[in-house]
Amino acid sequence: MNRLHWLCAAALFGTSLNVSASEGKPVLVIHGGAGVVRSEMTPKAEADVRAALLKAVNKGYAELKSGKPALDAVTAAIGVLEDDPNFNAGKGAVFTHDGKNELDASIMDGHTLKAGAVAGVRTVRNPILLARSIMEKSEHVMMAGAGAEAFAKAQGIVLVDPAYFRTEKRWQQLQKALAEEKAGQAHADLETAKHFGTVGAVALDKEGHLAAGTSTGGMTNKRFGRIGDSPVIGAGTYADARCAVSGTGWGEFYLRTVAAHSICMRVDLLRQPLAEAAEQVINKDIPALGGDGGAIALGADGSIAMPFNTDGMFRAWIGADGIIHVAIYSDEKESTP
Ligand code: ASP
Repeated sequence: MNRLHWLCAAALFGTSLNVSASEGKPVLVIHGGAGVVRSEMTPKAEADVRAALLKAVNKGYAELKSGKPALDAVTAAIGVLEDDPNFNAGKGAVFTHDGKNELDASIMDGHTLKAGAVAGVRTVRNPILLARSIMEKSEHVMMAGAGAEAFAKAQGIVLVDPAYFRTEKRWQQLQKALAEEKAGQAHADLETAKHFGTVGAVALDKEGHLAAGTSTGGMTNKRFGRIGDSPVIGAGTYADARCAVSGTGWGEFYLRTVAAHSICMRVDLLRQPLAEAAEQVINKDIPALGGDGGAIALGADGSIAMPFNTDGMFRAWIGADGIIHVAIYSDEKESTP
């Protein structure tokens, strides 16, 4: 079989291509949530977030440059954002109705279609590490609550006192949401519940393999053990041989549209360009149901899409050209740090 035949066969049967159209050049895209409220952004907040995004994208990209797999880049970048109090993941996670922090995360390897996910943990410092451990060290894909924490302990994953996750800003957001709720404001109007600060990453490594991951504290004032899209493979996170996606937004709508998987199936089966597929799901299907948010998507050819329909989406990326970009608002799609 010559190379052309092999490529055709690979395309037809979904086999992963070892060398992507980005010619072995790695690509990394990260987000820190699509819940940007422009009027609330101070120059200091902007600077802090841009610095954190820069640190995360550089750390993840260093993994790719040294020949490590996409999974390592995703894990490293998300770890930085989880440790940074500016984002709704790990330290700085939003509060539940009962004043707790309950964390969700997931990761997927596009090359093997292996996945790991964790929901509703309260003491795991870096939920993305636990998601990865579930993928690699257990027979399961998803674990929740106390069981997940017991597994984390057995794996030697760092556990912290729940107070570690607390920040005053998130606590005040909960107080505001509770007051709005008391005043009888309809859920759709509860803007404080929608500070989507979830973090995520999608990466393409030198082998042409993709991976995706997402980590979040969920939505402010969530109750009854509510789980959003972020830890659900196919909804908030998905990766296969051609496409990797991490979403951020009103999770219920990402669950109902199986958003991340829907984008990738448009690419895989309908052969839609990545940007078109992401645009359809994020800016048409989700808003049609009443939801909002954004996503980052990466193709095995190095193509990138970052649609959102909120004021902004914290994001950074390094494409096949090796140039670093950091952006928040829609009118600065091409900004550099
Ligand atoms: N998608 C997340 C959730 O619904 C929230 C976010 O993106 O910030 O849990």
